[in-house]
Amino acid sequence: SPATASELLDSLNDKQRAAVESAPGSVLVLAGAGSGKTRVLTHRIAWLLNEQGESPFSILAVTFTNKASAEMRHRIESLVGGPMNRMWIGTFHGLAHRLLRAHHQEANLPEGFQILDSDDQYRLIRRILKSLDLDEKRWPPRQAMGYINAKKDDGLRPKHIDAGHHPMEQMLLRIYTTYQEACDRAGLVDFAELLLRAHELWLSHPHILAHYQGRFRHVLVDEFQDTNAIQYAWVRLLVGNTSNVMIVGDDDQSIYGWRGAKIENLNKFLDDFKGSEVIRLEQNYRSTGNILKASNTLIANNAERMGKELWTDGSDGELIAVFQAFNELEEARFIVSRVKQHLEQGGALSDCAILYRSNAQSRVLEEALLHQQVAYRIYGGLRFFERQEIKDTLAYMRLVANRSDDAAFERVVNTPARGIGDRTLDIIRTAARQHGLSMWRSCQQLLNEKALSGRAANAVRGFMDLIGDIDDEIAEFSLKLATDKVIQLSGLKSMYEQEKGEKGEARVENLQELVTAAGTFEKPEEAEDMSDLNAFLAHAALEAGDNQASDSEDAVQMMTLHSAKGLEFPLVFMCGVEEGMFPSQKAVEEGDRLEEERRLCYVGMTRAMQKLFITYAESRRIYGRETFAKASRFLSEIPEQHLEHIRPKTQVSQVQPTNRFTQTEKSFDATGFKLGQRVKHPKFGDGVIINYEGSGAQSRVQVAFDGQGIKWLVVAYARLQAV
Ligand code: ATP
Ligand code: MG
Repeated sequence: SPATASELLDSLNDKQRAAVESAPGSVLVLAGAGSGKTRVLTHRIAWLLNEQGESPFSILAVTFTNKASAEMRHRIESLVGGPMNRMWIGTFHGLAHRLLRAHHQEANLPEGFQILDSDDQYRLIRRILKSLDLDEKRWPPRQAMGYINAKKDDGLRPKHIDAGHHPMEQMLLRIYTTYQEACDRAGLVDFAELLLRAHELWLSHPHILAHYQGRFRHVLVDEFQDTNAIQYAWVRLLVGNTSNVMIVGDDDQSIYGWRGAKIENLNKFLDDFKGSEVIRLEQNYRSTGNILKASNTLIANNAERMGKELWTDGSDGELIAVFQAFNELEEARFIVSRVKQHLEQGGALSDCAILYRSNAQSRVLEEALLHQQVAYRIYGGLRFFERQEIKDTLAYMRLVANRSDDAAFERVVNTPARGIGDRTLDIIRTAARQHGLSMWRSCQQLLNEKALSGRAANAVRGFMDLIGDIDDEIAEFSLKLATDKVIQLSGLKSMYEQEKGEKGEARVENLQELVTAAGTFEKPEEAEDMSDLNAFLAHAALEAGDNQASDSEDAVQMMTLHSAKGLEFPLVFMCGVEEGMFPSQKAVEEGDRLEEERRLCYVGMTRAMQKLFITYAESRRIYGRETFAKASRFLSEIPEQHLEHIRPKTQVSQVQPTNRFTQTEKSFDATGFKLGQRVKHPKFGDGVIINYEGSGAQSRVQVAFDGQGIKWLVVAYARLQAV
């Protein structure tokens, strides 16, 4: 049953209530982390529905991640007491996709258009570079990709760009142009394109825009500080002069500047929507006093701020624990031990979040968790739908849905190997380019003209027949059976079954899991008009990561600091807090990005409700090399009074930080080794001594080997060498 007005409003403070009940018009809620911005948004929607009799049909809400929109929908439904299908809640990308599906013709897209995720985009760009005869060393694909996406984020098509006389820019522009032609030919839409095209759709079709303006009387946007130019323009258009709009944001949490987000959009909004009501929330309900005060002090080091303070009437809570590790392995071990401690004290794994600066950091942490048999789930990073075998299968399905999907064609035309070599592919590509055809169509043409050698022609014909056969077969089956068919008929299953070892097994398991995913897939209401297959493919591309294998299982949550935005956890481990890692080397070098890194640190710290751990390692192997670093400057910006320093659990745990090794050196001298020293073992390779016990012939040392785990060794036998 729906919550009554007082139930809706009683759980809010005065300012929050004012925001929820604000009169029609435009409202900006500007407030720091954990002050209830998202809660205000959710309650506002429920209040509009319950108390103002608004229809769910008239509401559009934008959130930052799929996870956040699912949570918001869920909370609103529980406040309103029923399903809210007709309400549009989603990410900018998800909503733009929905619009383009509904109006694909007006948007100049084929009905079965597919989304190109960033991995596909990267591959396509590499192919474009090849077709333009450009050397990847001189023209790195990543750079071209960054250029294209940045232009799109700013709303710029090639025709809008004047490269002047800059040879570099001219070439990038040429790559952009060729890339876009290839996408258009194949009916492929990358992430940035979704937004740009949805915006253009409205600009060029005023009647469609007018329809949505009339429909969405209430537009609400969370995390507004991270909107980019095109997203802003999109919201601006939709709201027009008639809708009511509420945006919430925090300039201190703007962390996507590197991807085109503009903090200025907050001020721009105030300019564009004159007379907006501005509401500031100052009470924090999430974190303990120590965590909150530490975060406030940290962020005060930024010069460019709109300025706000947060307070809490909760207790100071525990101090922030700082752990200095010898290396990344010890850091990981420490984190896992604390997670287990929490579990032993009756806590849940899902209370714990491990946050890191870069995805590459997760591997060592994963290994430590696996080793200790602690379940974990990764948000972002290599998600289920991004794994090779899954993408292979989806590529077959995409080709079945849309023969001109060149990215899918390239991916599987010779996977499993069927004798279609690079030479044949080059012929097909060239022909496709010359005639402006998809690769599929140009294959048909080449076959008709008998332009391929006998063997190549047979192989290509075989592939095309296979796709046709799969199409015929699956037309009759449910999505689940169809997926199973694709896996079998394509030959992917037997190919991966032949791959030896755990990796091959895992791949086959993943294929199996895809069948499960297809079986449990429920077509969302907005995809009503799409075929099951198309809806599933869009889901896989758009919502990867939300649908991981074991969603119900209690697990530690792992993610980058960026993907943690908006979330909260009782225990947070922020790791790798070292100069060069966080702030990243690049940010330090470029200078102007330092403030954004500090905001990221602020975001990380303010995710913690009860306990925050900050860890760093003196040495770290990452990206294939070893680095040595000091603690991050951010750590020194936090007042000592909020910190407690935890030492490694060795016999020297009582020793002060500065002379941690001195006491042990004497007793240890007999063995010739010191704590923290790097050593070499004939079998295990290089490592660091992290602990020792005993003396004389009995003395043993504990060594953290790079990539080989941690081992106790008897010094007398171990044949360790100092390095
Ligand atoms: P962020 O900037 O990190 O996105 P936020 O401002 O959106 O944070 P919320 O996530 O909405 O903050 O709220 C933080 C926490 O405080 C949530 O657990 C929320 O339920 C709780 N909370 C917010 N307002 C109140 C209130 N008036 N009474 C009790 N709890 C509240
Ligand atoms: Mg929020």
